[in-house]
Amino acid sequence: MKEFKAESKRLMELMINSIYTNKEIFLREIISNASDAIDKLHYKSLTNKNIKVKKDDFAIVIKIDKAKRTLTISDNGIGMTKEELEANLGTIAKSGSYDFKTQNEKKENIDIIGQFGVGFYSAFMVASKVLVISKSYGSEDAYAWESSGIEGYTISKSNKDTYGTDIILTIKDEEEYNRYLENYEIKEIIKKYSDYITYPIKMEEEISEDDKKDKEVKLETVNTLIPIWRRNKNEITEEEYNTFYSDKFFDYEKPLTHIHTKAEGTLEYNSLIYIPSHASFDYYSKEYEKGLQLYSNGVLIMEKCADLVPDYFSFVKGVVDSSDLSLNISREMLQQNRVLKTIASNIEKHIKNELLDMLNNKREDYLKFWDSFGLQLKAGIYNNYGMDKDKIEDLLMFYSSKEDKLVTLNEYFTNNKEEKALYYACGSSIDQIKTLPQVESLMSKGKDILLCDSYLDEFVFKIILKYEDKEFKNVCSDNLDLDTEEEKKEINSLNEKSKDLLGLMKEALKETLDVEEVRFTSKLNNHPVCLSTTGAISVEMEKVMNAMPTNETVNAKKVLEINYNHPIAKKIEELYKNDKEELKKYSKVLYAEARLIEGLPIDNPTEITNLICDILAK
Ligand code: ADP
Repeated sequence: MKEFKAESKRLMELMINSIYTNKEIFLREIISNASDAIDKLHYKSLTNKNIKVKKDDFAIVIKIDKAKRTLTISDNGIGMTKEELEANLGTIAKSGSYDFKTQNEKKENIDIIGQFGVGFYSAFMVASKVLVISKSYGSEDAYAWESSGIEGYTISKSNKDTYGTDIILTIKDEEEYNRYLENYEIKEIIKKYSDYITYPIKMEEEISEDDKKDKEVKLETVNTLIPIWRRNKNEITEEEYNTFYSDKFFDYEKPLTHIHTKAEGTLEYNSLIYIPSHASFDYYSKEYEKGLQLYSNGVLIMEKCADLVPDYFSFVKGVVDSSDLSLNISREMLQQNRVLKTIASNIEKHIKNELLDMLNNKREDYLKFWDSFGLQLKAGIYNNYGMDKDKIEDLLMFYSSKEDKLVTLNEYFTNNKEEKALYYACGSSIDQIKTLPQVESLMSKGKDILLCDSYLDEFVFKIILKYEDKEFKNVCSDNLDLDTEEEKKEINSLNEKSKDLLGLMKEALKETLDVEEVRFTSKLNNHPVCLSTTGAISVEMEKVMNAMPTNETVNAKKVLEINYNHPIAKKIEELYKNDKEELKKYSKVLYAEARLIEGLPIDNPTEITNLICDILAK
């Protein structure tokens, strides 16, 4: 018996005692090795005329013997000599990838199994004994390598008719491992991880024990062989694309579109990316994991490679397959990987272009998309301190009051070229926003306003700030600057003249703490009052920020504006002359009214309703 080299021993130990839940990946590793071995022989045969193998004969065959508890994976690849068995299976070839010295924690150990292609030794996660019988192509002799664990391994002469390698696993005798002796389970694992291996993976057809006696057991190919993403676009039907999508990503609804790319040249990869037509139930939850399936030459290396898609496009599903990525790359190494970065940046461009195309040419599809994922794009503007805003801005949509539908910023901008600024108003629903006094009044003057019913909208505008040099302005803020010089002069002198009256009203509201000013206005049509804000925080922002689970409360600086053209203005002036106490009551009621219109709560409802009754009873 020979001893394993020290670091192989540690890896073995890790495998044997593994509590890693994803043990099934051992099959992926063994099948990949088999496929590599066939690749090597195939390549040799292409360069050496003396090697006569037929490409069509290449196969990986998997057999199960329940009675003996064995799972056998055979290939007709290049095989291994005695020396190669010794060198390849007695030590870890690629020791560079494993830095065990830093992996002391058990938890981290579990992680590395998931992160690395752990190779041949992963067989020990499920097998109590591993027997490898191999015959190198062109050699007369076959050899057997055998090990039952860290104690060591033996190599002895053996018998094998054909070249290639048989890996015979004696599956551990515990219930959790029984699944590796079930035909359908193995098939499923193959489908999941190795479906796109380019050589056929064959298994025995499942027939009853009785039938086995008099019928020859047939082999069936389990894998697809040529993955859809490697095929030519013009040979794939829409239906094939859609079926692949629903099978692979378990979505019952057809995707909106797909992006199929074949990159050749300095960087080679195939990618097939889908834009779903709806958000999955967990999409906007913490549980949702973004990412694309990552393959290296047809072998799955990662189920969800997050680095391939930016957060704002986290809704896409798909696969990336590159021959420029090694199977054994770790997650940490992937993040630094130049190839992956380039692929990711290409993918991002493709997604954006596809969305722009949909926006411009298939508006109905885009509206469906927007309905599901618009919020994600808006969050993308807001996240990362607005770093990505330029990339997403053109994909945003808002509701135009004039068009009565969703429009892009560019469309809104183009439709309102003559305006000084870009106007928006916020609230809980389009209908509610339309009834805001400021909005109604501006709409009646023919202004086009973006009506924003999502809590993120205003934050988005605060980040974007401008579109083509024009500023975004909340129509409920006090810096709208829509009046003519004359109108301004008129209202300013009126407010100046009424200074004492307005001061008294403000005094009456001092308990509310957040009324900055009371003033007359002429901008409201028929409405008596409105609430506007001065400063950076608007009413909508106040609502959103105060709904967040922090102890801080913010107050928008509010301005109570009273319509000078409304009969209430005359009443106020009259009260100021004759009954200042009554004017204080009116002030409170009017302020409460303005808050209600804005959808803000009233802190003192009893007082206010009593005041209203007092006034009514007069
Ligand atoms: P890796 O495949 O990453 O090199 P493994 O531990 O999986 O690491 O395998 C070690 C080596 O054993 C391989 O590089 C290969 O040379 C050899 N090997 C494993 N399986 C086979 C096989 N079925 N046929 C031929 N050689 C094999």
